[in-house]
Amino acid sequence: MLVLGIESTAHTFGVGITDGKEIVANEKDTYKPKQGGIIPREAADHHYKFAPNIIKSALDKASVKLKDIDIFAFSQGPGIYSPLKVSFQISNFLSQKYKKKLIGVNHCIAHLEIARKETGFEDPVMLYVSGGNTQIITFAEGHYRVFGETQDIGVGNLLDKFGRVMGISFPAGPEIEKYASKGKRYIPLPYSIKGMDVSLSGIETFISNIKDKHSVEDLSFSLQETVFSMLIEASERALAYTEKESFVITGGVAANKRLNEMGRIMAESRGVKFKSIPMEYAGDNGAMIAYTGYLMKNEPEKDYLPKPVFRTDSVKINYR
Ligand code: AMP
Ligand code: MG
Repeated sequence: MLVLGIESTAHTFGVGITDGKEIVANEKDTYKPKQGGIIPREAADHHYKFAPNIIKSALDKASVKLKDIDIFAFSQGPGIYSPLKVSFQISNFLSQKYKKKLIGVNHCIAHLEIARKETGFEDPVMLYVSGGNTQIITFAEGHYRVFGETQDIGVGNLLDKFGRVMGISFPAGPEIEKYASKGKRYIPLPYSIKGMDVSLSGIETFISNIKDKHSVEDLSFSLQETVFSMLIEASERALAYTEKESFVITGGVAANKRLNEMGRIMAESRGVKFKSIPMEYAGDNGAMIAYTGYLMKNEPEKDYLPKPVFRTDSVKINYR
């Protein structure tokens, strides 16, 4: 069985193909705004423009044709409506043209499933950190349950907003990571954690107000140390509470080496297993949509629509 998955919730248009065991293709192109944040209409235009070539190169990588695909999966949400609808429109058209099953995949769950696949961890606590999302999740009784989350903005969003203030282009995470590695002095920033929830927008305001007094290296270093400590502290609480035996970080911010280092130190000190996920699968990608579509292969046929708001814990997981 072959599943082709399309991702388009925000900045990335990605196409992945899997037979359920291997990822046989994972092609993508990412929209980069000329300045500022994502402009929804521009992101959608980017995705429509790149779709034919990305689909073709995924099929070529896998050495298959569209008619060989058994299921078309798409990222149903959550996401920004204009780019989000691109993967729906294309997959819906292909499934009708080739008379194959269509499956809508929750984007956040796809980040979790690719992390489970790549680490081999059966039942981990997962810190899911991306642009719009920041959640601490683990599986319990038929659902991925959210144990803790941001009360305002996602951590990637915080990094990108800080980047904008400092004149670093989107996505700012990788650049901030480079600056942070050269930072020498820790500047205390608001540390806001309530149980397993975190609040991030106050840090953004605070750091914007002091930005002219410090170097970008020290600010980046202090921002990473503060925010990542909050996330790892909340994750540790979830591990203590659930007594799960493994921990993984997934989503675009999981590309960050310092965050993974902190995660590893915390996990190992508790006797919990830890693995980083490969860079290729950290940020948005089509492979995670294809793979989750494969897991959902026995879901009954139904009509789908894109869902800009689509909670991780609202999905009944029938394959576990
Ligand atoms: P996603 O939406 O899952 O693709 O995640 C995108 C987010 O990940 C953006 O906010 C990026 O700034 C952030 N990001 C990407 N690479 C890194 C990195 N090395 N360190 C921190 N954040 C990163
Ligand atoms: Mg994502």
